[in-house]
Amino acid sequence: MKAKQSKQPRQRAIPQRTCIACRGQEGKRALVRVVRGAHGVAVDVTGKASGRGAYLHPARSCWESALATRAIQRALRTALTPEESDRLREFAQTLPVSEVENNPVADVTILADQ
Ligand SMILES: [Zn+2]
Repeated sequence: MKAKQSKQPRQRAIPQRTCIACRGQEGKRALVRVVRGAHGVAVDVTGKASGRGAYLHPARSCWESALATRAIQRALRTALTPEESDRLREFAQTLPVSEVENNPVADVTILADQ
């Protein structure tokens, strides 16, 4: 007897993710991923790094609030080293203060210095 492969209806819905700072939901491409990977906590500009991830709006206000409230630490279930905090703060400085439509977060290579 051959097990029939269950036919799952392929939904084209864009995966929604929640910004850990403001709890707003967006398609994952509209958010920036932070990942706790082999090299510590870093901004995952590819969105594909392995490890536990959390999502944030590309808005400085969300990052500062996430850092201030330790939402990042909670979401990633880890503590941030001072270096990691600095790295995330630096990244936040490159973002617009609040969310702006159609503002792609491009060419930020935070992960490169390894
Ligand atoms: Zn947000």
